[in-house]
Amino acid sequence: MTSSKGYLMTPGPTPIPPAVEAAMALPVIYHRGAEFQEVLARVLARLRGVFRTSGDVVLFTASGSGAMESAVANLCSPGDPVLVVSAGNFGERWAQIARSYGLDVDHLRVPWGEAPDPDAVAERLAGRRSRVVYCTHSETSTGVVADVEAIAARARAAGALTVVDAISCLGAVPLEPDAWGIDVVVSGSQKALMTPPGLAFASVSEAARAAAAVATSPRFYLDWERALRSQVEARTPFTPAVSLVRGLDVALELLLADGLEAAWERSRLLGRACRAGVRAAGLELFSPDHDSSAVVTAIRVPDGVDGAAIVRSMRERSGVTAAGGQGELKGRIVRIGHIGYVDIDDVAAALDALELAFAEAGSAVERGVAARSARAAHDAAAARAGRPGS
Ligand SMILES: *Cc1c(COP(=O)(O)O)cnc(C)c1O
Repeated sequence: MTSSKGYLMTPGPTPIPPAVEAAMALPVIYHRGAEFQEVLARVLARLRGVFRTSGDVVLFTASGSGAMESAVANLCSPGDPVLVVSAGNFGERWAQIARSYGLDVDHLRVPWGEAPDPDAVAERLAGRRSRVVYCTHSETSTGVVADVEAIAARARAAGALTVVDAISCLGAVPLEPDAWGIDVVVSGSQKALMTPPGLAFASVSEAARAAAAVATSPRFYLDWERALRSQVEARTPFTPAVSLVRGLDVALELLLADGLEAAWERSRLLGRACRAGVRAAGLELFSPDHDSSAVVTAIRVPDGVDGAAIVRSMRERSGVTAAGGQGELKGRIVRIGHIGYVDIDDVAAALDALELAFAEAGSAVERGVAARSARAAHDAAAARAGRPGS
């Protein structure tokens, strides 16, 4: 049986606010007309606000990986030495892209579930000069949020540019590219930015733009310079996903209306609530039991229980779509996202579904306590922060 109301609780795509859906349902307009130019100009300005940068943010019609690829194609020439810092499935993607472009990749691999140590990054850079450091802010496959401020400081000290994959966390956790000296931040529309999949972004610092001017890797659709030359006139070089841009315009307006800090606080509190619920049910966390883990909570699946079956049962019995493990964590964890247009009621529904699925799989979980504990933790934290509980 499938419940009639669905809960999309993956760390991307995420649920869409009705006002964003309404904007996307408007008639499609000509992308070279004045009406669209007005929308695009506003979106580009709002993106700067969400990226916390006074520099440029390039917009692509692509999934997030397109923006990742652009940060390799534009910054590097074949054979360039780069450092990839990875601690999960998405960090591995940086290494795959960099190798595809023929770069000389030094790969600092951190065990999945751990956060990269900035001093280990400094050590690698001392041992071998790299032009660019590629790292991941929120490693969505594990729930770990890395200290990219410290990594960027080590990279800068070693004369390297820093590129950060913030696809799942931009708009959900604190990130200050200008203040922290991060050259490129890439993100996508479908996670904390409350818009369907299909748009990707890259913020480009002055130093990154200068590096792009001399980099010789082939690029056409993903060329930053071509995009930026169009964007100064509020145009795009190619036909953009017009309806998604209209939706994003409204989503960013919603996000910025309360201030980004409020959005960061929402995700932090939902993460705290979700962890409290998981613990109360007697389940074990895989992601860190720490406020930094504000994007996705990963729950360990005990030996002898099939994680994929838990995810399937949550969807079929309770209408909750959660995510399973990826790569080496396949079948071993269940992930519940709490970014974007998600509230404590959604988290409570996910926890109820999780308990039911584990109980039916024969695990010794206590029923009915997870959601209650999550609400209690959320209300207590919200009261301390001086805001209403829901
Ligand atoms: C979702 C995600 C991606 C991949 O983005 P796509 O839009 O699927 O290309 C990359 N990195 C991280 C950290 C993500 O969470």
